[in-house]
This record gives sequence, C-alpha cells and structure tokens, in this order.
Amino acid sequence: MTVAPLPKRVDGLKLVEVNQQLTGTISSADLTRLAGIVRSSSPDVNCDVEFSRDEEHLRVLAGECNVGVVMECQRCLEDVSFTIEASFRLGLVLNDDQARALPKRLEPAELDEAGRLDLWETIEDELLLNLPDFPMHPQGECQAFKIEPEEDIAAEEEERPNPFDVLAQLKQK
Ligand SMILES: [Zn+2]
Repeated sequence: MTVAPLPKRVDGLKLVEVNQQLTGTISSADLTRLAGIVRSSSPDVNCDVEFSRDEEHLRVLAGECNVGVVMECQRCLEDVSFTIEASFRLGLVLNDDQARALPKRLEPAELDEAGRLDLWETIEDELLLNLPDFPMHPQGECQAFKIEPEEDIAAEEEERPNPFDVLAQLKQK
C-alpha cells in the first residue's frame, strides 16, 4: 500500500456523510509551529483519521497520528529522541454555540462557514498537545546522571592516603 500525502483542506461536512477514512502522511516541514519547538523531526507525520457520525448523531473526527522528534533534554541539554503519539476524538462544529453544546468527551474543532477543515492544522494542534512540557532522558540514559557518580569516585580517591606518602614519611624520621 502506498502512503499518500494527506490533503490540507477537506470538506468536513461531506466527509462525515460518506464516513471517510484517510490514511496518509503530512510533511513535518509543513508544520511550522511544531518545527519551531523541536530540534528536528522525522520527515513525515503518519496519520490515520476517520470522519463519522457518532451514536448521538454528532459529527466526529477521530484519529491517531505519530511523528518522531528530537528535543532538548531539560536535565542535561543533550538531544533526546522520542515519538509523539496523538489519539483524538473531536466534535466538528460550525460555530461557538455548537462547540459549547458538545458533550465533554468531545473537544471541538471548528469548520469554516463552508464546512471546510484545515486538517494539517488540526493534527498539528493534537501533536502539540501531546508534547512533553519537560522532555527528559530516562534516568539511566541521561548525561546529567552519568557525570555525578564519576565525580564521587574522583573525590574518594583524593581523600584516600597514598601508601607511598606514608612510606616517605617513615623514611624521613
Ligand atoms: Zn538528559
């Protein structure tokens, strides 16, 4: 199966009525807000989304997306790589009143007056929501933790008396 780029703007109303599923990629370079936060990212965001009506007949965009990124570890300031995964269920609405009327389980995503949705922006929002506030290496892999034990060993060695010094002192007497 070839993976095609995901369209940027889609007809949200129409895709809901045909229960459209879209599997594809977005070039990470096109997501400039994400690019401004991470040090680098894998070339493509992988996306799997579905437009549908839920049991309450509400318009829903559900999906899962992921992208590999490199950020700055907040402990040692070195690169830390991980995958951002976003899983979402959004209520597609045409105005603020509809957004307020949504049940709590659905976050609103607003269509424009023609019913169109910026799919890239919507997915970028979801990825940004799933970025860690304080990206860090796991403890065993972080440089900040590796430096500490080495310093301890060096300090211990300085304190330990050198047996040759003791010998030299004895000879002097
Ligand atoms: Zn680190």
